[in-house]
Amino acid sequence: MASYQTHNPEELRALAATLLPELVRARVVLLSGELGAGKTTFVQGVAKALGIDDVVRSPTYTLINEYQVTHPEIDHLIHVDLYRLESVDAVEMVRLGIDEWLTRPRTLMLIEWPERCEKKPEGLLVRIEIEGDERRISMGE
Ligand code: ADP
Ligand code: MG
Repeated sequence: MASYQTHNPEELRALAATLLPELVRARVVLLSGELGAGKTTFVQGVAKALGIDDVVRSPTYTLINEYQVTHPEIDHLIHVDLYRLESVDAVEMVRLGIDEWLTRPRTLMLIEWPERCEKKPEGLLVRIEIEGDERRISMGE
């Protein structure tokens, strides 16, 4: 299992950018870690690597932010944050549009708080742990 340590948000963004090929290969990335761990920061690094200029914030009202990207293998980056939902069942997955995005080709999905799903989508698990000012990022189970 690959594991990395970063010392500040900029380093975490840079790491996320270098991991882009692996994330794109996985198509669905489950970002796990407590509040303030750096999940959104990680998404910012991915977005920047894909040439997205908008400031990436956690989706607040929509829960899902969609970005069109120009990349040989994907044409959308989908950023989902389920924090504010207690539990997401199958009906809610459809209603939110997550279900449809999960089946779409050429889409990279980054999901914060995948634990909120009653049935966690399959995807590459990226765990971010707080170690003081540092963050430990581990990939895979
Ligand atoms: P999450 O989405 O997991 O709730 P955010 O990415 O929104 O977390 O926020 C991470 C917070 O932690 C930011 O305020 C950032 O400045 C801070 N931080 C401190 N040290 C680091 C680090 N080494 N890597 C990433 N973020 C850090
Ligand atoms: Mg967040």
